[in-house]
Amino acid sequence: MLRDHRTVTSVVSSDLCMSCGICQPSCHVDAITIINDKKRGMFTPVIDESICDYCEEAKVGKCVVVCPGVEVNFAKLSQKFIEGQNNSPILGTYDKCYYSHATDHDIRFESSSGGLVTSLLIFALEQNLIDGVAVITMDSGLEPRGIIARTSSEVRAAAGSKYCPAHLGDALSEIANSEGRYAVVGLPCHLHGVRKLEKINPQLKLKILYHFGLYCANTNSFHGTEYFLRENEIIPEDVSHLRYRGMGWPGLFSLTMKNGEKKTIKRGTTETDKKRRAKFSSAFHYDFQLPRCFTCNDLTAELADISFADPWNKKFIGKENVGKSMLVVRNKIGDELLKLAANMGAIVLEEADPEEVARSQNVDFKQGAQSRLRALHFLGKATPHYIGKIQKVNVRYMWNLVFHVMSFVPKNKTTLKFLPFVQLSRRIMLKLGNLF
Ligand SMILES: Cc1cc2nc3c(=O)[nH]c(=O)nc-3n(C[C@H](O)[C@H](O)[C@H](O)COP(=O)(O)OP(=O)(O)OC[C@H]3O[C@@H](n4cnc5c(N)ncnc54)[C@H](O)[C@@H]3O)c2cc1C
Ligand code: SF4
Ligand code: SF4
Ligand code: SF4
Repeated sequence: MLRDHRTVTSVVSSDLCMSCGICQPSCHVDAITIINDKKRGMFTPVIDESICDYCEEAKVGKCVVVCPGVEVNFAKLSQKFIEGQNNSPILGTYDKCYYSHATDHDIRFESSSGGLVTSLLIFALEQNLIDGVAVITMDSGLEPRGIIARTSSEVRAAAGSKYCPAHLGDALSEIANSEGRYAVVGLPCHLHGVRKLEKINPQLKLKILYHFGLYCANTNSFHGTEYFLRENEIIPEDVSHLRYRGMGWPGLFSLTMKNGEKKTIKRGTTETDKKRRAKFSSAFHYDFQLPRCFTCNDLTAELADISFADPWNKKFIGKENVGKSMLVVRNKIGDELLKLAANMGAIVLEEADPEEVARSQNVDFKQGAQSRLRALHFLGKATPHYIGKIQKVNVRYMWNLVFHVMSFVPKNKTTLKFLPFVQLSRRIMLKLGNLF
């Protein structure tokens, strides 16, 4: 837990920040700016101490109250916002599961999975159900931007997952300061924060009609993307535009260079060369993961109205090449929107077996959260406080720390020299693990 609860400065220094930006709109005196912290390779809040009044000398600042890095009360938030009839330790509270894709071939092809997020948002805008949506766009270079998209073309331009830190601070501040009805797209932790913010700001709750959650097993720092590009002989500063996904399923990295040249790079899911695959995993899963992600216990965006994922199961891997999304619908709000969009021909919807949906992800990540927390706690690190989830502690999952140890090490020229050794050791350990 944190030593100092007055502001989120202590969240950052305790490695509990994951760049969500939710603290920014919580501040009544606008003392918080989210900056790109180049040393950490992530977005972090900076507090203007000449403006901050410590929430009128309260023991805990509002920015800390809403921060999902510190505490998530799943029991209370789920009871307040989610009405699903079923419950599963992996999926959370839900009503139904689906496989689905956008009817528009181009949206489906350009998006991450089946283009469901993009096509549903465009549908909601065109049907005048909402006035805008908080999305993450990538207009130039390697730094994404949270915006309010108010047109179909803006939503479409923001399609595709960004596997790097992304914050919703500016977009949520815009919603808080303007009239209208909105949707928010976010990772599980973004939505933990949005729901907490709505709890202390009922006006915001009335404005945000839809909460779309992306499954998420980790986010890597900007240093991870830079490392991966360099390993592929690309100078990060020469990149004009980057897309992490798209061009079918599971998709490719595609880059436009400042000199106009276009390049594509295979992703880990389709890479056959073992060394190149190890570098991809190093950049995007193990060594550059934000430390806070090591302690995350959600994965399936349990506090969303609808959760969206890749269908990583044998029905689709190697067979689907345009795009499919896997959905978990958690309440009436999500269900009504999906059915309307399907009836009006914007999406294709096929009911899926919840057991199959639950199994098609890295469930160890979710089941092992409490064990990883315990391992960090044992080492004296601050850990988040989760309420309303019972998970067993298992030594097997505690060992996971060994695979991720580099993610806790600051990245500089010296530490990066160790990476090839770390990658090789991990490959050997994983191989030995498979043998036993
Ligand atoms: C960091 C990250 C980790 C993920 N991990 C998993 C996983 O472990 N398993 C899995 O099945 N799926 C994971 N996903 C989700 C998956 O990649 C797809 O986003 C999801 O299947 C929806 O696809 P789609 O085609 O419907 O979305 P699209 O139509 O492509 O729309 C994607 C939407 O997500 C928004 N977005 C993109 N990046 C971010 C971001 N970093 N933060 C907030 N919003 C963003 C965009 O603004 C866009 O509106 C992850 C996504 C991200 C960004
Ligand atoms: S609210 Fe988000 S950005 Fe702010 S300190 Fe917490 S985790 Fe970091
Ligand atoms: S403690 Fe209160 S006033 Fe200070 S930055 Fe946080 S929210 Fe703003
Ligand atoms: S793993 Fe959890 S904390 Fe990390 S980015 Fe994903 S949802 Fe957020």
